[in-house]
Amino acid sequence: MKPLSRRAQGIQPSGIRQMMERARQIPDVVHLEVGEPDSNTPDHIIQAAAEAARAGFTKYTPSAGLPSLREALARKLSVQNGLPTHADQVVVAPGSVFALAAAMLATVDPDDEVLVPDPGWPNYTSVLQVIGARIIPYPLPRLTGYLPDLAALRRLVTPRTKAMIVNSPSNPTGAVFPRETVQALSDVAVEYDLYLIADEVYEEFVFEGEHVSPALFDSDGRVISVFGFSKTYAMTGWRLGYARAATAVAEVMTRLAEPFVSCPSSVAQKAAEAALAGPRTDVERMREFYRRRRDTVVAILGPEGLLAAVPRGAFYALVDLSRLGADSVALAGRLLEEHHVATVPGEAFGRSGAGLVRISFAAEPRLLEEGCRRIVQFATLRVGV
Ligand code: PLP
Repeated sequence: MKPLSRRAQGIQPSGIRQMMERARQIPDVVHLEVGEPDSNTPDHIIQAAAEAARAGFTKYTPSAGLPSLREALARKLSVQNGLPTHADQVVVAPGSVFALAAAMLATVDPDDEVLVPDPGWPNYTSVLQVIGARIIPYPLPRLTGYLPDLAALRRLVTPRTKAMIVNSPSNPTGAVFPRETVQALSDVAVEYDLYLIADEVYEEFVFEGEHVSPALFDSDGRVISVFGFSKTYAMTGWRLGYARAATAVAEVMTRLAEPFVSCPSSVAQKAAEAALAGPRTDVERMREFYRRRRDTVVAILGPEGLLAAVPRGAFYALVDLSRLGADSVALAGRLLEEHHVATVPGEAFGRSGAGLVRISFAAEPRLLEEGCRRIVQFATLRVGV
């Protein structure tokens, strides 16, 4: 038989999902690998979706999403994010995962170079591999609190560079880029004529500083901003995200959705409308939960010198285990096998992840505390040997 597609075979399984699979085989594991809110979707959202489904709202919708939802999102973007937006600029997608993929497919050709954050979320790289683009990691040095090294980033730009991916608040570092950094990244995009794809799915979870959208500095429609419902409203399983782009770009992204997904789920879109129309108290409550959990992580791991940086947003922390070795896959493996704590090897997020593992603090507080204590035990026991 002829081989399967080279591009498809080139995709590595996500280090995050691999760890989830391994952890499933072991009882009593403290799960700190999954980047998923531990709470359920708020009730009024579930109710609205159930009512819509019962009323027969179970059919295809337009590829770009329901007009009423696009209108509601345009209002949210205009009022909450300060980005004046027309509904034509909004593309609803089955998960921000697909909104990001559509943004990359719309802008990047095979052999184009794309700047991706290192450390950064691995899905960017997978999509770019499918496209056949060249992946150029740009450094987010730990010494700067995982903010981009702009001089290093500029040196990586070549005439083939087409786009840059920016993720703040960041998975896996928890960094929140200050306004001047976001402005500087936007300036680089203009100077070198690059598309800027902004992954803003953690916009609501900022503990210090503020979330600044790169599109605030966009004067010519080169920024594509991606947001989601998964994290903000604890709706990971509903699969709903959206992008804001220049109208012409949004149209291309919509055409791309047709052959891959037809349209986002109809009931999930009704759930999303209820989420936007409902009270913001749930989001604020979740932000406070995560802040307290972040504080727990800092209180337990900080004094032991195990925190690579204090997370200022999202719900992740990079744990520095480099005193035990550089191979993060081996480190995460030993943590799992010997101490029953599931984490993600830092190298799943790029080469700069050596010696690190990522934990998610979206976990239940009691388990989070237990997991952190086991990590301390692992790190200190080993060093003593
Ligand atoms: N972007 C980042 C940085 C993420 O961490 C995730 C999920 O973990 C996503 C996008 C995808 O979110 P969604 O569930 O909306 O597809």
